[in-house]
Amino acid sequence: MKGVLYVVATPIGNLEDWSPRAVATLKAVSVVAAEDTRHSGRLLQYFNITTRLVAVHDHNESARVDSLIERLEEGADIALISDAGTPLISDPGYRLVAAAQQAGLRVVPIPGACAAIAALSAAGLASDRFIFEGFLPAKTVGRRERLQALAMEPRTLMFYEAPHRIAECLVDMAAVFGDERRVALARELTKTFETIRQLPLAEMRDWVAADPDQQRGEIVLVLEGAPEVTSAEDWSEADRVLAILLADLPVKQASSLAAGITGLKKNALYERALTLKEGH
Ligand code: SAM
Repeated sequence: MKGVLYVVATPIGNLEDWSPRAVATLKAVSVVAAEDTRHSGRLLQYFNITTRLVAVHDHNESARVDSLIERLEEGADIALISDAGTPLISDPGYRLVAAAQQAGLRVVPIPGACAAIAALSAAGLASDRFIFEGFLPAKTVGRRERLQALAMEPRTLMFYEAPHRIAECLVDMAAVFGDERRVALARELTKTFETIRQLPLAEMRDWVAADPDQQRGEIVLVLEGAPEVTSAEDWSEADRVLAILLADLPVKQASSLAAGITGLKKNALYERALTLKEGH
């Protein structure tokens, strides 16, 4: 019998979120492959799990894959965990899971916490279709480029962001998506200082900039998608109306009036007005 690779989610803060099945699996396997053995050692100790830990992180995953696959082929069960949440979600593990699938081995997920999904479930933004973008580039130029490429994406977007970059990230988001697009900030989920707030981007940018506490801890941003594409005919009428209004009015007022005249969504017209204005 060949071994099974279990992909096991761990808590993202509150240890009570860990499932009995996850604990039982880690107790039963031969080896736990962990991103940081010292960090995970504390979690295992808390739950009285004495299984041996081996390190599998971004820097050694390729080198470790062969020996772990060999052990699975020999019949040993292995559990893969990361520092927090679901492995492979902005975390190591992809190469090992891909190699196990390639080798025809059984891969079993033990589901649990994932910060992005927890944030989405409480954000109050459309959740029927969404995309996960992980971490944005660290520098402004790269970040703006990536955001620009997502400007017309109609699905809800989810990002992970580091606390020391959250303020500048929101500045860039407001610049690219417009002040009115709504965003939810989910910070320190399941922990003592859990904060979940949904605001238009400009308000979120200003709130976070003014409060250093909002620039601490672990953060997920959930961003409203771009308004659905309207027919070419509707747009040409909207463009005509906007062009007239923009000649005398600022973008916000012009798009608000255009919404009343055309019946199209204010957010959509606001973004359209920004594009028209840039074109001039
Ligand atoms: N694999 C993890 C998961 O399933 O969510 C994500 C790992 S990624 C390296 C770490 C990032 O996830 C953090 O920088 C933050 O953006 C997000 N994150 C993790 N825990 C969080 C929490 N308790 N509250 C908010 N965001 C969290």
